Amino acid sequence: MSIVDELEYYQSVDLPIFQQEFASWLPDRMFDVHTHAWLPEHALKPISAERVGLVFEAESVSWAELSEAYGLLFPAKTVEFLAFGMPLTVVDREANNRYIASQINQAQSFGLYIPALDETVDILVERLRQGRFIGFKPYLSYVIWKPLESIRIRDFVTDAQLEVANGYKLPIMLHVPRDQRLADADNLTDLEYIASHYPQARIILAHGGRAYAPDLIHKALDVVENLPNMHFDFSNVQSAGVIQAILERMPLEHLMYGSDIPVATVRGYMFMLNGQRVALTRKQFDWSISSRKPNQLRCTFMGYEQIRAMKQACDVLNFDNVAVEKLFYSNARTLVDEAVRSLYG
Ligand SMILES: [Zn+2]
Repeated sequence: MSIVDELEYYQSVDLPIFQQEFASWLPDRMFDVHTHAWLPEHALKPISAERVGLVFEAESVSWAELSEAYGLLFPAKTVEFLAFGMPLTVVDREANNRYIASQINQAQSFGLYIPALDETVDILVERLRQGRFIGFKPYLSYVIWKPLESIRIRDFVTDAQLEVANGYKLPIMLHVPRDQRLADADNLTDLEYIASHYPQARIILAHGGRAYAPDLIHKALDVVENLPNMHFDFSNVQSAGVIQAILERMPLEHLMYGSDIPVATVRGYMFMLNGQRVALTRKQFDWSISSRKPNQLRCTFMGYEQIRAMKQACDVLNFDNVAVEKLFYSNARTLVDEAVRSLYG
């Protein structure tokens, strides 16, 4: 099985883009701080039955498929990564956590634990140690008693998680909720609370805080740039303007590359239009716009559109190889190494 399809199209369209645009610009060693893996048997229902909107169709990503995807996306590069399960109610959370724990090697691959909302400090520490995880990936899907739009960050990023992360300086991979994304006033209030009460927790705002438009991210950064424990991953961010804003206003050491596999393997392009997120894809999906006949649009991987945007922003800011290497490898590796040392000596 493969999560990358149309392999002839890959040879003729995607691979030449990689060779011409990225091969010599990207460092030889990369670190992907945001990737998912889960098996078909972990799915309790079809993934599409989840009420949270998703931009992929994969029903699973095994460890083997994950390495195959890296091989196709980044030929001749070494990719180390931080993986976690698929945090959805339609996936068996515990079985998925056990799978991640069974695959990580703590040398090139690391894992985050997907917590249950009611887990106490003691239980969370025990689960981390049992699985040799280095932090948490909480998610809003588990807040089933509220409409999606009313979910607050602290409904699913619990005080117990924050206390453990603060005590050991661990990362929490945070997908912010709500239509206004990172710029939402309640989200910003919650982040200020977290920054002042749990200053040692390393909060990674996934997908650039999902603020995929420059006006949203600038508004959000007016607050976030003053919170010293906030970090970003750039997974799914395909706007050079958004990436440039984050690069200009945040400390470089807090910014990291992420793929959000399986999303990076979807061929298409994602953008904001009048306040809504739009996905344009080569294949026809219920959640995207496409050509009337399938597979007509010459799209490449969303993962490549993201790196294009990153390169464009880095070029505008005259980033040298050292800065690019930090962005694509060292910043994430340093954060992960510090968490490993703190938890496991
Ligand atoms: Zn993700």
